[in-house]
This record gives sequence, C-alpha cells and structure tokens, in this order.
Amino acid sequence: MEILFLGTSSGTPTKQRSVSGIGLIESLGKNWYLIDCGEGTQQQILHTNLSLNRLSAIFITHKHGDHCYGLPGLLGSSGMQRRTAPLTLIAPRAVYEWLLSTQRITELYFPFALGFIPVEDLPQVDIGQFTIDTAQLSHRVPSYAYSFTERNIEVTLDTQRLISAGIPKGPLWGKLKAGIDVIHQGETYAATDFILKPRSPRKVTICGDNDNPQLLNDTCINSSVLVHESTYAKKMAVKARHVGHSYSTQVASFAESLSIPNLVLTHFSTRYQKDIDADCSIETIRNEAQSVYKGQLYLAEDFMNLKLEKSGNLIQKN
Ligand SMILES: [Zn+2]
Ligand SMILES: [Zn+2]
Repeated sequence: MEILFLGTSSGTPTKQRSVSGIGLIESLGKNWYLIDCGEGTQQQILHTNLSLNRLSAIFITHKHGDHCYGLPGLLGSSGMQRRTAPLTLIAPRAVYEWLLSTQRITELYFPFALGFIPVEDLPQVDIGQFTIDTAQLSHRVPSYAYSFTERNIEVTLDTQRLISAGIPKGPLWGKLKAGIDVIHQGETYAATDFILKPRSPRKVTICGDNDNPQLLNDTCINSSVLVHESTYAKKMAVKARHVGHSYSTQVASFAESLSIPNLVLTHFSTRYQKDIDADCSIETIRNEAQSVYKGQLYLAEDFMNLKLEKSGNLIQKN
C-alpha cells in the first residue's frame, strides 16, 4: 500500500505546496482513498497516476476550508467523466450539509450514488481492503483521525514443510491454502499444519488538525505509520496551542512514546521555507523532531509517494 501526498500546506497554498489532500492506494489493484480534499486537489491528482474512476471513498477530517473546499469540484469532475460507480463520503455532518447546499445553489448533480456516513456515528467501518477506525482530536472545530488497517491478510503456505512431506506442488497445495485437508497416497494432511501464522496487518493512521497527540493513544496501537500535522516548529508552541495545532517535538515525542516505527509530518505553516539557511526553514522542524524520535521520519512534500511494505518498512518511491 502507498501514501501519496497531494497537498502539504497549512491554511493557504504556496508555489510548492497545495492544501491538504492525501491518497491512500491499496496494495492490490488500483483502488484508492482520498483523505481530505482541499482546494486544488483535483488539479494535483492530474499530475499523478490516480484515476477518479478508481476512487473508492473520501474521508474528510474536519470542516476547515483547507481540508474540504475541493470537494464539490472533484465530485463534479467525476460526474463529467461519467462515473457511475457509487462513491462513499465519510465526513463531519457539517461538511455534508455544506456540500448539499453547494449542490442545490449551483445545480450540481452527480450521475453516481454518493453514500454519506457521518464520522460522528463511526467507531468503525469496513471498506475495500481496509477496516477504518476513527478518533476524535482537539482543534478549533471537531476534527478526526482515520486509521486504516488491512483486512483479509493473504494465506501463506509453509513450502519447506510441504516439500519435506512429499506433497507435490499443484492442486493439493491449492486446497491446503484454501484450508481444505487433503489425502495423498493414502495419508491425510491437515491444512492447519501447512499454513503459516499470518503476518501482522499494516495499519496507517492519518490525522486531521490536532493540538493534542495524546488523544491518539488507543488509535495508534499497532500503527505502522502515523501521519500527523506539525504546523509549527517548537518556538511557536504557544501560538500552536492557541490556534489548535501541533509542533515538531510535541508530535515526535508522542510517536516515540508509543514506538511508532514511521512518522510523517505534514500541514506546514507557509512561513517555513525549503531553504536550509532561511530564518524559518522546514529543516528546523525536521531537526527538532529527529532530536526526540528514533524511528523513520519523513517531512511530507507534494507528490511524495511512500510505500509501506508488508514488513512494515516505509520507503520513499520518488
Ligand atoms: Zn488545516
Ligand atoms: Zn483546521
């Protein structure tokens, strides 16, 4: 599975960064999920291999414009591309009400069914290859995190054992893999003896704006990856708290406390420049986070594509 960042700026876009949007791509096939849809997200998608027709569901973390203003446009374009497959929207009720009024006022109709699930009602839901859990965060308005846990982990056979037992490769292996006991040369072999213990499911937690990472304590258990905002560096801690956002060491020390192996910071204030020598450099956020976090750290950039391997390693593809 892959995480593709479509927008990584807080509040307003910059020349290098669009506002919030993250694609989560399933490991099999081309189906994907969109988490947040700030203005310009559909334009960002055009620069990727993602297809609106393969979008399975949209998750909105909260009602601030930098996380949802792109929604009517993206849905309208899906309609113009003659999408007919149903699409699921999971969002705060307020976002859906805003969408409905925009549809009414601008006479926007979709040729596909848009199923809405209020995030307020959700402890958990299964969609596609994932079980999705939610957690309530702390921000100026209600804000949520979404955890995506793989389900239907593939069955792996103990091939060494099969070979040792003299069971020939072919239909018998297929039956054992399907959990069916087999008879070979008069001997019965139990499927459970040849199926390996399943690997741990991969789990990615993607958060909306939040000034209190501790609220993620339960949701982050067994998370391979935490994607969290770090709008500010440590120097801005007081302001961060005041406006309902987090800063570098706050998020990184939380991730360290739970030994989360991979941390991706995003949603950076426009004050932080790429230039390492700038007064306000994004490298300050990186250095501060690294000073308290020992896992694999990434600072998201637009179009950064991270692949989460079955082993739990998170590697950058581009
Ligand atoms: Zn925001
Ligand atoms: Zn916000």
